[in-house]
Amino acid sequence: MLRKRTFRSPVALHLDHGKTVDNCLRAIDAGFTSVMFDGSHGPIEDNIRDTRKVTAYAAAGVSVEAEVGTVGGMEDGLIGGIQYADLNECIRIVEETGIDALAAALGSVHGKYAGEPKLGFDEMDAISRAVGIPLVLHGASGIPKHQLDRAIKLGHAKVNINTECVTAWSLQLRNTLTEDLETRTEKNINSGERRDSGNGACQNS
Ligand SMILES: [Zn+2]
Repeated sequence: MLRKRTFRSPVALHLDHGKTVDNCLRAIDAGFTSVMFDGSHGPIEDNIRDTRKVTAYAAAGVSVEAEVGTVGGMEDGLIGGIQYADLNECIRIVEETGIDALAAALGSVHGKYAGEPKLGFDEMDAISRAVGIPLVLHGASGIPKHQLDRAIKLGHAKVNINTECVTAWSLQLRNTLTEDLETRTEKNINSGERRDSGNGACQNS
């Protein structure tokens, strides 16, 4: 579909939180231009070994993202506590796999925050300087703009926003269903997409 359309902005088709190596390879075969292999829930040795299988398969033009540490909240159907990325593990996975971008968990949460988010900016600065590749911020919904600006200055090149997009989509769909008694589902669902389109980049985070 992407090949047939022209966009005013550069667009990547990205697989977020690929749970298995096979899922990532199949996405690459299907034409995805970017994949994330998420081996963060297992030992670092397994994460590196499996991430390397994805980078070895990804041809030029396909970028690969990996994750170290644990983003809090609901991720891949699992509720997890926040676990900061370890600096040495970040260096190792970059050097030993050749990934293009690194999601280093530093206090962000998937879903809604309880109170003010507390990102580890000192650790972020140290990891960014040490790895020398773009960082990815997962769970960016609800993080105040001044914290996002600081995270971007410290090396984040991709900011994943999902909850705010889904919330806006759901609100518009709910309004439409309340106001419009017509029962054509596809028309009602499209109304949610209209609300989403004004909300910036929407992707799973
Ligand atoms: Zn995520």
